[in-house]
Amino acid sequence: MAESSSSQAALARRGLMFILSSPSGAGKTTISRMLLEADDEIKLSVSVTTRPPRPGEIDGVHYYFVDDAEFDRMVEEDDFYEWAHVFGHRYGTPKGRIRAALKDGQDFLFDIDWQGTQQLYQKDQQDVVRVFILPPSIAELRRRLEARAQDEKDVIDARMERARAEISHWDAYDYVVINEDVNLCFGKVREILDAERMKRQRQTGLIPFVRELMS
Ligand code: 5GP
Repeated sequence: MAESSSSQAALARRGLMFILSSPSGAGKTTISRMLLEADDEIKLSVSVTTRPPRPGEIDGVHYYFVDDAEFDRMVEEDDFYEWAHVFGHRYGTPKGRIRAALKDGQDFLFDIDWQGTQQLYQKDQQDVVRVFILPPSIAELRRRLEARAQDEKDVIDARMERARAEISHWDAYDYVVINEDVNLCFGKVREILDAERMKRQRQTGLIPFVRELMS
């Protein structure tokens, strides 16, 4: 009988495209940051945007900040997996090295809206995992947006309006987590990621491993 021993983490597997969406203010950015800090196997897919940077945002880390002409050029050259208009600016997911890295087992985190989620899912149903984060209430969402105080009142009103629209797409996601407490919410998101990594179809290394177990 052959000797077979392996830890789950050492088995080859396909990477996944882990999408976190929520209305702004529901905590998605915090959860994303926590996930990236806690888990070395997932990397952020950095989007391209025509929105100007907010204080503290770094080009190439939070977004690639480009002007309209550069965004147009990227659209023409088919450089995006998907792109969308959000709050009067454009946002897009650059193809970059994602496709090849998925094959090598690299996971990517996508902080994108429902439009981008739909487009990514249409292109790659096998690799996409869609998670939607909901605020505990609309009043709490407004409170969080106001506490952030980086935006003018009319921008907050526009975001509240958009939040309602965004929430209406909750049923196009695989998982829905209510963010009442950021640590609890984070724990649930991690459980989802861990479980998805364990899906049989993703664990390409299982076939030789099990074959050896059975030999
Ligand atoms: P913010 O300007 O607050 O960073 O992001 C505004 C919205 O744009 C968020 O809902 C965010 O998820 C979305 N977004 C960020 N990057 C992308 C992207 O590459 N594609 C799409 N479709 N939406 C994005």
